[in-house]
Order: sequence, then C-alpha cells, then structure tokens
Amino acid sequence: MQTYAYGYPRLGRKREYKTLIEGFWQGKVSEAELTAGLEALEEERLAAYRRFVDRFPIGEMSLYDPMLDTALMLGLYPNGGRLEDYFALARGEGALELTKWFNTNYHYLVPEIRMEAGTPPPFRLAWNKPLEAFRKHPEGLPYVIGPYTFVRLSKGYPPEAFGEILRALLPVYGELLRSLRAAGAEAIHVDEPAWALDVPPEHVALIREAYTALGQEAALLVFTYYEAVDFLPALYDLPLRGIGLDLLHGPGNWEALRRAGFPSDKILIAGLVDGRNIWKTDLSKAAAQVEDLRRHTGAEIWISNAGPLYHLPVTAEAEAKLDLALRERIAFATERLKELRLLKALLTGEPDEEARRWNTYIHPVDHWRHPEVQERVRRLGPADFSREAPYEERNRRQRARLNLPLFPTTTIGSFPQTEDLRRARTAFRAGKLPAEEYEALIRERIRYVIRLQEELGLDVLVHGEFERSDMVEFFAERLEGFAITQHGWILSYGTRVYRPPILYGDVRRPAPMTLREITYAQSLTEKPVKGMLTGPVTMLAWSYIREDIPVHEVAFQLALAIQDEVRDLEAAGIRVIQIDEPAFRERAPLKRRDWPAYFDWAVKAFRLASRARPETQIHTHMCYSEFNEIIESIDALDADVISIEATRSRGEVIQAFERHRYPRQIGPGVYDVHSPAIPTPESMEAIIERAIRVIPSERIWVNPDCGLKTRRWEEVIPSLRHMVAAARRLRERH
Ligand code: GLN
Ligand code: ZN
Repeated sequence: MQTYAYGYPRLGRKREYKTLIEGFWQGKVSEAELTAGLEALEEERLAAYRRFVDRFPIGEMSLYDPMLDTALMLGLYPNGGRLEDYFALARGEGALELTKWFNTNYHYLVPEIRMEAGTPPPFRLAWNKPLEAFRKHPEGLPYVIGPYTFVRLSKGYPPEAFGEILRALLPVYGELLRSLRAAGAEAIHVDEPAWALDVPPEHVALIREAYTALGQEAALLVFTYYEAVDFLPALYDLPLRGIGLDLLHGPGNWEALRRAGFPSDKILIAGLVDGRNIWKTDLSKAAAQVEDLRRHTGAEIWISNAGPLYHLPVTAEAEAKLDLALRERIAFATERLKELRLLKALLTGEPDEEARRWNTYIHPVDHWRHPEVQERVRRLGPADFSREAPYEERNRRQRARLNLPLFPTTTIGSFPQTEDLRRARTAFRAGKLPAEEYEALIRERIRYVIRLQEELGLDVLVHGEFERSDMVEFFAERLEGFAITQHGWILSYGTRVYRPPILYGDVRRPAPMTLREITYAQSLTEKPVKGMLTGPVTMLAWSYIREDIPVHEVAFQLALAIQDEVRDLEAAGIRVIQIDEPAFRERAPLKRRDWPAYFDWAVKAFRLASRARPETQIHTHMCYSEFNEIIESIDALDADVISIEATRSRGEVIQAFERHRYPRQIGPGVYDVHSPAIPTPESMEAIIERAIRVIPSERIWVNPDCGLKTRRWEEVIPSLRHMVAAARRLRERH
C-alpha cells in the first residue's frame, strides 16, 4: 500500500508565486531572483509531499500554465527559452486564449493546432521540461500531460483531423518517455483528465492505439480525474503500469469496477480524498472503500487524491479567524496530504490517535441549520419559478416605464477598481480606516461614475461596484451560512488568484446587501440605475459548498436570498435589475447525460431569484461564447435582457440565438474588456449590424463584453464614448 499525491498548489503559503512572477513583469525581480524564488517554492512543495506521502510527481511547477508548457515542449510555438517569449505567449498581444479547465474555475491557455496543407504541424521535442525537472529532483515521477488531453483541449483543427494529429504526436511522446526512462525514472505520471469527458468510440480506439505504443516506452501511471472513465475496461489490456481513478466524482468508476473488476497486472490508484471541495474526509468510510476495492480486484492498490490539489488553498492552519467548528471540519491541500497518511495508517492497522480524532469532525454542526430556511425551500411550488406575466406583457409595461431609445446603451456593472480604492478597502478591513471614511470614498466614486455615464450619454446606468472586491465574495460576506477565509487563495489563471468563500450552512440574508449603494446611485440621476446581483448558480459554482443537502437545495436557498434582495430593490424604486450568471455554463457536468438534471435546477434557481414584478426589467449576463448547446436553457431563464460576450467572435455568437429564434432582448458585447485597445465605433457597429441580420433591432442592446473592473479609466472613457457614438449612428440608420 502506497500513498500518492499530485497537483499540490504552486501558489505558496504567502502567494509567493504571484509576487515573484508579477514582480518580474514589473521589473522589480530579476530573472535570477525569479528562478531562485521558484526553485525555493518548488522545494517547499516537494517537502510537503515528502513529509506526508510515499510518492509524487516531479515537474508540476510552471511559470504560467502547464498546457502552455506542453505546447512548447512539443514544438508548437517557437521557443528560444527566453522568459520574455514565454510570457508573451501567456499574456502579450496575440497571447493564447484562456478557457476554463474542465468544469473548474482554473483557466488554461488553449494551444492552437493548425493543419498546414492538410498535415499536422511538425511536432518535435523542443523542450524536455520533464527531464530538466527530473534531473534536478530525481526522486519522483516525471509529470507529463498526455497526448489525448493535449489535443482534445487544443483548438484550431477540424474534428476529422483529430486522429492524424494525435498520431503525429506519438513519436515525440515516445522520444520523451525514452529519455525519461534512460535518465532513471521508474515510472512516468501521465495526466489524462480528458478521458473523463464524453469520449466517442473512435477516440477510444485512438487512445488504445496511442497507449499500446507509448506503454512500450516506459512504465506509465495514467491519471484521470473530475469524473469517471466511461470506457475503463477498454484500458485493461493496455501496457499501462497503473491507472489513477477519481472515486469521488461520479458513480461510473465504481460501477465499472464492480462489473468488470480491475486487472491484477496494474496498480489501481484510488482517488479517495477530494481535490475540489474542502470537507474533511471520512477516513473510516474511505478505508471501507479500499476494502471494497480489494474485494473486487487482486490488483495492487495505492491511495491518492481525487482531482489535483491546486483547487484548494495551501493549508487550513492559517485560518485562525474561522469559527472553530468550521476550522475543525475543513481540509485544504496540506491537510489532504495528511489524510492520505492517516488513511494509510488506518489501512495498515497502525493505531493512530489522530485518525480517530479526525473522524469526529466530519459531520455538520446543528446550529448551521435553520429549519425555517429549509421549510421555505420545501414549500416552493411551480408558481414560485415563474414571473407573474408573460414576456410580451412585461415588455410592454417595462417599455412604457423606462422609455428607452432604440439600441439602448449600458455597461455590465463594474468600473475601474483603482489601486487607491483597493488600498482603502484593505485598510478598512484591517480596521485602519474608519467605516465612515471608506463609505464616503465609495459614495464619491458612485457620484463620479453616475456623472460620467450621464455625460457619456449612456441610457441605463450602473453604480460601478466600487464597494465589491469580488462578485461572489461580496455577497458571501453579507449572507449567513457563508464564511470567508483569510488566506484561502487559489489560482484562477496565470498569477491571478481568488478566495472561494465556504458555504457551510443554511443561507439567510440578515439584511439588504446592495440597497444602500444602488439607491444612492439612483438618487443622483433620473436615468434608470441597474441593481446588480450575482446569481445563485455562480454563487455556488465559485464557492466551496456543503454536501449534506442536495446541490439544488443549496441553489434554491441562495435564490431565495437573492429574490429577497430583488424585492427590496424594486420596492425602493429600482426599475432594472441584473443578475449575473457567468458560471451558468461552466458549472454544467462533464457528461452530457447529466445535463438535463443540472440545467433543470440551474434554470429554476435563476427563475426563483429573478421573480420580480412584471414592470421590473430583469437582465442577466454571461461571458463565454459557446451558447449553441445550451440555448434552450438560456431561453428558459426567461430574463428580459441577456448580455453576452461577442467581440471575439465579431458577433457570430449570435447564430445560436438566431437558430433558436430567441424571443427576448439581447446585448451582444461590442467592446473586448480583456484588451487595453480602444475599439472604434465602426468595429462596434459591425457587431450590432451582424446581430440585426437575425434579431429585430428593437430587441438589441449595446454594451461591453463584461465588467470594466480591470481596465483603466483612460481606456474605458474613450471606449464608452465610441460605444455611445456607435449606438447613435445605428439609431440614425435603423
Ligand atoms: N457585474 C459584474 C462586473 O461587471 C460581472 C462580472 C462577470 O461577468 N464576471 O464586474
Ligand atoms: Zn462577464
């Protein structure tokens, strides 16, 4: 029995990773300091592994993203080994696109594989990163992203070229594996999480072909996670040394193991401690699961984490301010490593006091539950999930009330969060800035942004979200049932971090959350100011959530709290309310067969949250471009207006709405907020003209792709000026 862990965070306890790399970008850290700093960080990661587990991979560290590293390793992009070139690919002009990694909130850089004259690009082993890492630390298993996952997660090639591209990679992977074996690696860690997606039969055949070849080159431990592998028995006769399975997410792996067993010539690496959520593992249950596995197979079993540990903060030890009952019940990445050690102690019959103690803290505490909240969810009936009037009637009443021009202009919510504002918030939180002063600063910004929007000529205004650090954390801080950590940072992409709140109990809204700022903003102008809320699906998708009740109940509790806020806003005279759901698509399960159940509750949760009076205009906002597959669910949200990201596709994203004959209003984004560039009025008009071909002009809004929080005022002001100019010219033409 061995313990094996992977994916331990590279961020560092004090976010050293971020400080070092961003310091390098700003010229404050030299290349030598960066290299030395990252090496020290890597030493710390390895020390954590060494302390708790028997085996672990080597070479997981990256300067930005392991998918980019793999693309460079395979010679997909020119790489002179210069850091400037590397970071240019990650974040310069023409950088690779960022996309969500599976259904997590980590984003990877999407490699682009272009067929040239009908053939794949000339792959070659351009950078043997795994070998470099292994030479430095010849104590673990070299870490590699496998070819299937690499190609499946890349873009730019026609689907029918998939097999050809995969085959073209095999010689390069062969060379890589041989070099690692020659250097003395006893086995290689190959990550293939894409095996847990919906994999068509022709891909299963390709995977078999690829690994029949690669398995000859070296001993391979292939890791899958986030879900079950639907074709598990098809791997049994391949020359693999071991297979890592996620035994927590999705029942499929257990079903396959019960039905088909597991070959005795392979190691079964059982993912039993959670890499995605933070609740302590029930060690007795995990031990029983290992016994169960032993009954189904004669294979050697190792115990491991289910999913990489970088979805968790480094350690829960630092959270001294958390309520003790909660602190005792959570495990972050370091505690997961410890759990593996404790589980091994249990399984090998070593008496372990700590393992026993661990298990006394695995059940939620009674006072985290509030019967009246659960009762409110239980009493929900069909009427609670729909507006009182159909869209046509709502639309009539809203138009009469709002009196907006054709192509109304608006923004998505946030305006630049400048350094002074963030410093003030930090000072306020640390008790160094009195509340009155902080609030006065927020009010001053609101006044400024309302005046600015009036001056620019926007039609539906926003208050700017200056009081919010983060769209989820802000609400989590104001709702009972949520806790905020002090140091619980995780990587979102590159060096960008966020702190997921912990939803541990029944959700109650003790007081209005946004009323003060929104009504203040509305008091400054005759124009409508949008109430700005985060939707229930996004609230739960970007938090660690409780597991003692079904997820749809968590969503409905959140939705009811948001609905209460909606009611308060409209009672206070707010005529337009936006409920953001950027995580709506990404939270969908990996397997299509689980989609209907997910979208059923996700749609219901939104409808519950947005159950406003007919004359209140409900907006929603989502920022990703793939709507084709989920358009029915988007329609079912029954929002009066939806704003979407459309700039990158130059408006083509609208196709999905066209095909579906989407019946309500839509704001295709005309301004790419991820770029410092100032778009021209013409480029913006072109996007709207594209939309007019398929959606009647009286149903089209003009707005940016997303919030402007990360942009600078110097970029935002001229861009919005152009946007308003574009809308005016469109009005003249149509
Ligand atoms: N209202 C939010 C903002 O403008 C929306 C952010 C998002 O979609 N991620 O910042
Ligand atoms: Zn957005």
